Formats: sequence, structure tokens, C-alpha cells
Amino acid sequence: MKGVIFGPPGAGKGTQGVFISNYFSIPLISTGQIIRDAIKNDSPALKGLKDMIAKGALVPDHAIIDIAIDRISKNDCDSGYLLDGFPRTIDQAKALALLNIRLDFVLSIEVDSEEIVRRISGRLYHPSSGRTYHKTDCPPLKEGIDDVTGEPLITRDDDQPASIKKRLSVYTEQTEPVLSFYKNDITYRPQFLQVNGMGSIDLVKNRIQKLLGTHFSSRL
Ligand code: AMP
Repeated sequence: MKGVIFGPPGAGKGTQGVFISNYFSIPLISTGQIIRDAIKNDSPALKGLKDMIAKGALVPDHAIIDIAIDRISKNDCDSGYLLDGFPRTIDQAKALALLNIRLDFVLSIEVDSEEIVRRISGRLYHPSSGRTYHKTDCPPLKEGIDDVTGEPLITRDDDQPASIKKRLSVYTEQTEPVLSFYKNDITYRPQFLQVNGMGSIDLVKNRIQKLLGTHFSSRL
């Protein structure tokens, strides 16, 4: 089972992605998380991209395509994977297609921009684990502190207001066209799924579970 989860920043791709990857027992692959981990570990190849990412711009296609292809070539991806944050441009989608990768589904989580700004501006992040909280929707047990390690939580550079605006425009201009690319993909015809991403995490999760059950119950 191979799928891609789409949605603007703050749509809940990471949160719902964990649920979907467990549902199908496939790894969840977030290119954003791979990049953040590499930067944290001082990867020389990605150091120069730090400012770009903090501002909310996309990193160059050739860099991210190498990262993604390298990751999906690992053994744990033999029976499939769920991609979160890749492909984000038409050229990235074409790079996957060139490898003859047949996607089973493309899921788009739809959330309006007012709600996105509300979600991202309340987001808190634990750098060493990647755990994410929200000030009101999913608060840590102790304000500003990671539940598991007791370490401080931060606001990601790319979750600052100016970067949120940039990331939203990048999504509209560069990533939304990728959805049309898959809708019109007559070679592999991935199942195209759309879900209303407004409401609580559980509500959205239930909608997704229903959709997946309708289309893929025989694949579980
Ligand atoms: P994310 O956590 O998916 O929002 O990704 C965080 C940041 O990593 C993005 O704003 C981009 O700067 C970079 N990034 C992640 N995935 C990609 C991609 N597929 N193409 C280009 N840049 C990416």
C-alpha cells in the first residue's frame, strides 16, 4: 500500500498520517521531519538550507528528490509507505512517476486558511523527538514542557507568522497543482480521496477511517 497525504501546513497531515500508517501498518515518511533531523545533526549537505526552511520556502527539487528516494528504498518500505510532504511540486511528482511507483491513493485534507493560521500559531514543538503539541487543542501536561522528557518546547522558525504566510502561498502555487497531476494520472489512477479536515483530531480521524474502510477494506 502506497499513499500520499496532502494538505496545507497545519491541516493535520502529521497527526492523521500516524493514524493512517498504523491503519495499514506502513511507515510514515515525512520529508520535513527528515530535513529537520538532518539539520539538527549538522548534516553538511543541508546546513545551507536552514534559512530557506525557516522562511517557509521549499528546498530545491534535486535535494529533496534524492532524500525521498533514498528513504523509500529502505527495507521497511518493501510493503509500502505513506508520504507526508512529498511530492510538493510537479517535478517531484514526475520523479516518482519516472521510477514507476504506483500510488494506491492520494488523500487531500481540506482546511480553510483562517483555521490553519490558528492551528500553526498555537503549535509547540519538541526538537529532539519531533513531538508536536498545540497550546489549546493538544496542550502538554505542563505549560511549555515536553510530557515525556521534561525538556522545553519551542515554536518552530517556520511556524512564525511571516513564514506561515509564505508556506500557505507556496502550497497554493506549487503543491495544489500536484493534486491535479494525480487526478489526471491515467497511467496508475491512484484512488483520489478528499476529507474535510475541519473539527477535532478524532472527528477528522473518523472521517478518514470511514473513507479508507470504504475503498481499501479488502487490503487490510
Ligand atoms: P513540513 O514539515 O512538511 O511542513 O516541511 C518543513 C519544510 O521542509 C518545508 O517548509 C520545506 O522547506 C521543507 N520541505 C519538506 N518537504 C519538502 C519537499 N517535498 N519539497 C521541498 N521542500 C520540502
